[in-house]
This record gives sequence, C-alpha cells and structure tokens, in this order.
Amino acid sequence: MNKAPVLPGSTIGVLGSGQLGRMFAISARRMGYRVHTYSPDRDSPTGQIADVEIDAPYEDLDRVRQFASAVDVVTFEFENVPAPTAEAAAECTLVRPAGEVLHTTQHRLREKTFLRNHGFPVTRFEPIAVDADGGADDLCRVVSGFGPAILKTAGFGYDGKGQFRVETLAEAQAAWDAMGRQEAILEALVDFEAELSVVGVRGADGQCMFYAPSCNHHVAGILDVSFSPAPFGRQMANEAIRIARGILEQLNVTGVLCVEFFLTRDHTLLVNELAPRPHNSGHLTIDACVTSQFEQQLRSVCGLPLGSTEMLRPAAMANLLGDTWTGGEPKWEAALALPEVKLHLYGKSEPRPGRKMGHLAATAATAPLAERLVRKARSRLSR
Ligand code: AMP
Repeated sequence: MNKAPVLPGSTIGVLGSGQLGRMFAISARRMGYRVHTYSPDRDSPTGQIADVEIDAPYEDLDRVRQFASAVDVVTFEFENVPAPTAEAAAECTLVRPAGEVLHTTQHRLREKTFLRNHGFPVTRFEPIAVDADGGADDLCRVVSGFGPAILKTAGFGYDGKGQFRVETLAEAQAAWDAMGRQEAILEALVDFEAELSVVGVRGADGQCMFYAPSCNHHVAGILDVSFSPAPFGRQMANEAIRIARGILEQLNVTGVLCVEFFLTRDHTLLVNELAPRPHNSGHLTIDACVTSQFEQQLRSVCGLPLGSTEMLRPAAMANLLGDTWTGGEPKWEAALALPEVKLHLYGKSEPRPGRKMGHLAATAATAPLAERLVRKARSRLSR
C-alpha cells in the first residue's frame, strides 16, 4: 500500500457519521480535503459537512469496498464499526488506525486484557462467559469475595450503557439478566478521587504528541463537564502521558487515541477505557489549543507532520444533552452574551434525553474559572 502522505485536495473516508466525524470533517474541509462519510444514517452530523454521504449498513461489504475505493484513506469516528467492515475497507485503501486497534478497543474484555498483559495499571477484573446452557457459572464463582463491583457488557458499550453496580450474587444475577445474559466483565469498583483523560496522537512515522490531561465529571455515566489542565500537578500529568504513550506504541496506533483514567484516593492512576479516536473530553482543544484533536486526526491519518498540542488558554467544556431542550429552544443568546463562551451544535434534529446535541466551551485565565464560566453559560440556556 502506498505510504506517501495524503495531501490536501485528496479525499478522506469516515466510517461513522456522528459529531466526531462532523468536527473532523470541518477540520478536513478547512485544510482543503474532500470528505466522504459512510453509516446507516441520512442527514447525519457528518453528512451535513461532507461532500458525499453514503447511507448503507456496515454489513454491506460491497458498498463498503465501493466507498473505500473512492477515497485516499479511511478513518473512523465510531469505534463499534464491525471488524469485517474495516477489513473490507482495508482491501481497497489505506485504513488508519488499523482494524486491529478497533478490534481490541471495541470489546471491554479484550481491551482490559491487552492493558493488563502489557503491564498497564487497571482495576481488578474477571471475564464472565456464557456457558453452554446459557447460564453464567462464572458469575456465581466470581462474585463471591469480589466486593463492590460493576458488571459491564463485554462488547458495544459506551457512555455508561450496559453497566450495573453490583455487590451481592442476587444483584449480579439480576443485572446479568437485564443485560440480556451476554458475555460480560466484572470490574472492582474504584473509589476514585477524580477522573482524567489524556488525548494523544501518533503520526504515521511513530512520532507521539499529547494534550494536557483533562479532568472529567460524569453524570449518570455520561461525560458532563471537562476542564484542562487538570489540577493534579506536573508529576501526575507526566505519569498519565507516560502511560498513554506506552499504549499508543503497544497498540501501534496511527491516529488519535484517548486514555481515560481513574485517579484513586491514594493518588495512583488506573486506566479505565481507551477510545481510538478523538474524545469528548478533547473537544475543548478546538477553542483552546494550537491544533485541535480533529486536525491531529487528519494530520496523522494523512501521514502529515503533527501540529503543536500547546494550550493557548485554560479551557472547559460542558455537554449539551437533549434534556437541555425540555423547556423549549434553549436561550442561546443568553449563553453567548458571555463573550468567552463558544457554541458547538452537531446538527441533530431530535433532542432526545441523554443524546449529545452539542457542547459549550469557555476559555479563561485558569481552568477553574473556565469551568465556572461554562457552567454559568449552560445554566443560562434554560433560564
Ligand atoms: P465507562 O463507560 O466504562 O467509561 O464508564 C462510564 C463511567 O462509569 C466512568 O467514567 C466512571 O464514572 C464510572 N465507572 C466505570 N467503571 C467504573 C469502576 N470500575 N469503578 C468506578 N466507577 C466506574
């Protein structure tokens, strides 16, 4: 396969069509690229920006090959793209990051096992397999003596979906029934002081760059607010970046990867999750950094030199879920009356509760000030 840089004027294919593809496509268009997107949806957040929107199932491998043949490189904005889809695309063009990266990271058990086997710090976990008669012998064996835990589906989980907090066998069994008795992972509950994440990028030549860690607040398993730089000192930031670098290298990623961490009460870092793509906690890089995480994705998958990750100003980001529309159209002008606040909307027409519709970003002299400002802006939307 030709490894020469994919230069401006070329066409990038994006598998998936949500907001991550949209923000990627905005960066790509700005740098003179054309964008094609492929997903089962129409008038999608990415499709509204792309030159071409293909609306077909991921399982239609002939359409996937056709799509891949028409572009110079394929990347992902959605990591649950099935492995055969990535393989079909790779028969026709360059795919970055490679399908194996998706294969590892789209399945919690494979991901945690990869991390543990390579010596990266993770919370204690055990696999829960479905046995021959559809039961979970593992569950009974494992739960006793495990203590407070979280039972998660092994595959296709995101934003806290498919997760249940359990302590007793009865709770674990009820949770396993509720998730449809599928392969799962039981993780020890981490008593964390904070959650943070590092977005890193690895170029086609192996060069790695990292953004300052973000501190993340979740509500009901969904990211709510991020701010950066995270307030845990240089040593902690360096340690998080050291771990993230090791993961990018061991996974042999060409592209962007986010590592989500727990910071435990005794100040050790445990890796919670990987996302082999730009991440919600990195959205603030658009307004705060020399190069956004989306431009880095573009540069890395095109084999171009990476841009600076320097943060020009501390920043914060607040998600806007569909719930923001409960009382009618949000009061945009009230939030935008704060001049350091930026509005990003993803072009989704149906504001369902829990659905990520957009975000607000704010920059300020310090990260806590930016956080306060972005929260204030968001509260103005529904006043
Ligand atoms: P996940 O989808 O696995 O990233 O989980 C979503 C959120 O659930 C995390 O950001 C945490 O807030 C919480 N969570 C997940 N796993 C654990 C765990 N093992 N211990 C404590 N909290 C967890």
